[in-house]
Amino acid sequence: MSEQKFDLIVIGAGPGGYTAAIRAAQLGMSVAVVEKRFTLGGVCLNEGCIPSKALLESSRLFSKATDKFELHGISISPPILNLAKMMQRKEGVVKKLTDGIEYLFKKYGIIRFYGTARLSGQNIEKLHRVVILLNDSNSTFSEPPGNSNTPTSLFIIQGTKILLATGSDPVEPPGIVLDGNVVVSAREALLFDKLPEHLVVLGGSYIGLEMASLWRRLGAQVTVVEMQPQILSCMDRQVSEVLYRALRKQGIHFRLNSRLSLVDHSGKKAVVRITCNADVEEIDCDRLLIAIGRRPFIEETGINDSGILLDANGRIIVDCDYQTSLSGIYAVGDIIPGPMLAHKASDEAVTCIERIAGRTSAVNYNCIPGIVYTFPEAASLGNSEEQLRESAISYNVGKYNFSANGRARCMEETEGFVKILADKENDRILGVHIVCSHASDLISEVAVVMNFGATVRDLSSTSHPHPTLSEAIKEAALDVHNEAIHY
Ligand code: FAD
Repeated sequence: MSEQKFDLIVIGAGPGGYTAAIRAAQLGMSVAVVEKRFTLGGVCLNEGCIPSKALLESSRLFSKATDKFELHGISISPPILNLAKMMQRKEGVVKKLTDGIEYLFKKYGIIRFYGTARLSGQNIEKLHRVVILLNDSNSTFSEPPGNSNTPTSLFIIQGTKILLATGSDPVEPPGIVLDGNVVVSAREALLFDKLPEHLVVLGGSYIGLEMASLWRRLGAQVTVVEMQPQILSCMDRQVSEVLYRALRKQGIHFRLNSRLSLVDHSGKKAVVRITCNADVEEIDCDRLLIAIGRRPFIEETGINDSGILLDANGRIIVDCDYQTSLSGIYAVGDIIPGPMLAHKASDEAVTCIERIAGRTSAVNYNCIPGIVYTFPEAASLGNSEEQLRESAISYNVGKYNFSANGRARCMEETEGFVKILADKENDRILGVHIVCSHASDLISEVAVVMNFGATVRDLSSTSHPHPTLSEAIKEAALDVHNEAIHY
């Protein structure tokens, strides 16, 4: 039986892979996607963005009911946590969204193979071959060819172009082995079947802080251990300081400037040693979450043997078309350099496919927001003040606190600020940093104007509805020129 041929074979169906597949099908390409996970959507939909935000939402409601309802004049007896039901709701959210991708694949005629893909060189027609080790329970997704020369679990397809979108995996620190039970990654921390007594989180960045918030809000004791002198060292320092204070107020304990080692891990407990300069303390915990970053996941695709070039961090090097060092093989998402974010992966996917189709698309890497979905949320776009100082760029700053914003007062959510950094020479917006309950939604307005090279005057002269949190953006923009009204 001859091997099936496609215009494009996508390996991995996360936000990078599935978005690329849909866009390619929209542009008329024949597309196959190989995904080893039963459900589509990758880490984002199955064990990352979506389940974490579903649980953060539930835990936020729980803590609101405990702390905030009384302020609004609503008295209820202490809320009771039904963790099993909370987890069930989260699974339901994940299922609806992963089913949605499956529906879109069918709608666009995308062929899905359920198995692990490996690059297998080119044939004489210069088509790239991909060997798929099919998962046994696959029959509903693809029909193995029954070719007598190949085992039925192996299937080979050919593509004019290949797109690698195999994502990332958690980094394991030296000397600590994740057992998936006591010593865990975020994957398992989104599946706990009971409230941890004491959760120790190694890593005070995006994922560590979100997991710490989630379990703290539900009542666990939580200690975050961070090697740097501040949490979120990748963000503007004022953001990290305000968030640090807010999270401490919520009862999360922090050990900054500290290193962690595992002293004992037997049964259902662990003992960790935390070292900060000369101070050493040992803490008992029932869960230790490792959240010190993620690494590109390329092992199973055979990239190491393919001659595809990697950078010093093990990420695949691509050119402006997202083409790797091998002609016809492309890569997007967490496996290439840049922030490991779902929207970055999907933006790259669309751009890569459109460039293959001869269009002139590009990703503006200065306009990719990074969000931490704690309470309050933190959202950053462009340069931090520290980066501008380091690069000796002259800038103006405008800042506005939510304590002076009418809507924030109505909501009893006044923590945080908007800070806008603008070029002193030409007034262009260079960076925006927001800490507030809905920072993730507010930042998009500024992303749009920054993408069009807007000045601060463009932002401040635009009407913002009243009363909204977005008025704080206008006021911060006015403050860049010392013209804020409500300050
Ligand atoms: P992935 O989503 O990792 O998908 C890769 C897919 O490839 C996987 O499904 C994998 O099974 C498959 N695969 C790998 N190798 C093979 C092979 N050889 N054959 C077949 N299939 C293969 N980002 C945000 O923007 N916002 C957030 O709020 C956010 N929250 C997060 C929370 C957590 C807890 C985590 C862990 C991550 C979060 N992220 C968030 C990051 C986001 O999930 C990733 O940046 C995004 O999923 C990367 O997309 P991708 O397409 O590159 O790869």
